[in-house]
Amino acid sequence: MRRKLAAGNWKMNGTSAALEELATLAQAHPAPGCDILICPPSTLLHRAADTVAASAVAVGGQDCHAKTSGAHTGDISADMLRDAGATSVIVGHSERRTDHGESDAQVQAKAEAAIAAGLIAIVCVGESLEQREAGETLDLIRAQLAGSVPQSSKAETLVVAYEPVWAIGTGKVPTIEQIAEVHDFMRTELAQHLGEDTAAGVRLLYGGSVKASNAAEIFAVTNVDGALVGGASLKAADFSPIVSALEKA
Ligand code: PEP
Repeated sequence: MRRKLAAGNWKMNGTSAALEELATLAQAHPAPGCDILICPPSTLLHRAADTVAASAVAVGGQDCHAKTSGAHTGDISADMLRDAGATSVIVGHSERRTDHGESDAQVQAKAEAAIAAGLIAIVCVGESLEQREAGETLDLIRAQLAGSVPQSSKAETLVVAYEPVWAIGTGKVPTIEQIAEVHDFMRTELAQHLGEDTAAGVRLLYGGSVKASNAAEIFAVTNVDGALVGGASLKAADFSPIVSALEKA
């Protein structure tokens, strides 16, 4: 049985005042029927972890370096995230792949480092609009999974998020059939790489313009075990109804 996961990615948003949103979210869901994770900017991580320490809400990082330490100015290791209170880290978000030119191999190395540090690696995959329109979506997802997911992943240390690049922050959402097709495909592909038992336990998230008004419909899709939410995770008033929809799914 896979426990559902509502994950929020604050991206490069939030200063000290945003911690109040975290506290409000935690108060709204004292005993949630799903896991709740917020990935704030790393500047807030330690205080965010303190803010939710006595609650069911967990905090995570948005990226990590593949090495544990060293001369990598501006980077943060998985060990450092863990030390700051993170339970998880997003790797391979499309904004990292695009803004920083991260390859599948780099994403895989980061995911391996995350798992080695005791974190859950949330590996993101997803096609661009051009790839979708060219009918290349499933081939791309296959290649990204093969290249980005560590072979050594266990069900409890891996989450995969399907995030079509064209749906992120745009208000555009794939059809329910498209979401179902990709999630079913990912489960089958993961079984090839990790074995049936592990693949059956890996949580698969949908990400891309999830909001309160579309969450229930998306969460009803087989093989969708939750969501990775950007914009609608910044305010507790927006994210809380998404969590509630997932609890009911
Ligand atoms: C994301 O950044 O992972 C994301 C899904 O963003 P949004 O919900 O804003 O589309």
